[in-house]
Amino acid sequence: MKIALIAHDGKKADMVHFLSGFRDELLKKDVSLVATGTTGKHIEKAGFEVEKLLSGPLGGDAQIAALAAQKELDLVIFFRDPLDKHPHEPDVQMLMRICDVHNIPLATNPAAADMIFKYIISLRH
Ligand code: PGA
Repeated sequence: MKIALIAHDGKKADMVHFLSGFRDELLKKDVSLVATGTTGKHIEKAGFEVEKLLSGPLGGDAQIAALAAQKELDLVIFFRDPLDKHPHEPDVQMLMRICDVHNIPLATNPAAADMIFKYIISLRH
């Protein structure tokens, strides 16, 4: 299972907190994590192994969208900050659109991500 992780700056702490709550599941060998650059650094510091792509504003969201289009992702967790402006807003929209085009589960806040994770875990046990 491959999970893509992206968090805007105001949501990076939320992302680390969220992932830490599912540490045991996420450290299993058949789970791989991929993230935009700065999000990935935060996740790494929290003790997870993660493939880091470009930073979001430099094309990282677009790289994740490409993986989604190639059906290489099982889940995208994208904690957006709705109270901030983003220079790469077109990429953000594009990533969400590609997830919808390819029917890839997309969680844009911790409540949704929590439900999806719990569901996935229930399927795996
Ligand atoms: P970042 O990118 O992880 O490099 O900060 C996330 C984003 O802003 O899309």
